[in-house]
Amino acid sequence: MRIDKLLSNIGYGSRKEVKQLLKTGAVKADGKIIKDAKTHVDPAVQAVTVHGETVEYKEHIYLMLNKPAGFLSATEDSVQKTVIDLLEMNDAVYKPFPVGRLDKDTEGLLLLTNDGQLSHQLLSPKKHVPKTYYAKIEGHVTEEDASAFKEGVELDDGYVTKPARLEIIEAGERSEIHITITEGKFHQVKRMFEAVGKKVAYLQRISMGPLHLDESLELGEYRELTDEEVEALR
Ligand code: URA
Repeated sequence: MRIDKLLSNIGYGSRKEVKQLLKTGAVKADGKIIKDAKTHVDPAVQAVTVHGETVEYKEHIYLMLNKPAGFLSATEDSVQKTVIDLLEMNDAVYKPFPVGRLDKDTEGLLLLTNDGQLSHQLLSPKKHVPKTYYAKIEGHVTEEDASAFKEGVELDDGYVTKPARLEIIEAGERSEIHITITEGKFHQVKRMFEAVGKKVAYLQRISMGPLHLDESLELGEYRELTDEEVEALR
């Protein structure tokens, strides 16, 4: 890759700014000063430095975000804040996008990556990747609801859901539950509860396939996945 493109991609400014930086002699590849913006470098095998600091370059980035309510699961929006607004510049330069969507008012685990292949794989309906949510429900959730979800319930558009697992944590006027679904229909969990006459008051995703929300992440915080977590997702 051209040195100017590489440095610009990872946040060293516009191509013009990078050209100026190169002129100062601040950039080296394997200890040799590079001044020509057209020079090709391979950061995977060459040590590229700027002011003596090694430039870290990776093709793919994998981030686990604890999404807060109030942010759209999108990369841009002309009016509303998106989850990309929560990222630092040095991560945003990799142009990650959310893998699937959580509603604006839903919190919890959201994977962001620029790895289109992995994203496609995780979202493929054929893969049936299980997603588990914690929810607070207005109304008394019963074992009958659990049986109905196991069988499949009919949503407002006539679609019948695939078997889902409902675990009642606390039943009462306001119930607390865990639900695991293997599909990703629009507002699925909310519409499943509507189908049994109840309302979701709070929804949080806690896992997606083998990936679990890191409890040390505060709302709005994120971290890179470990190599093991990325491997487990493949
Ligand atoms: N189901 C919903 O209803 N909303 C979400 O954000 C995710 C699953």
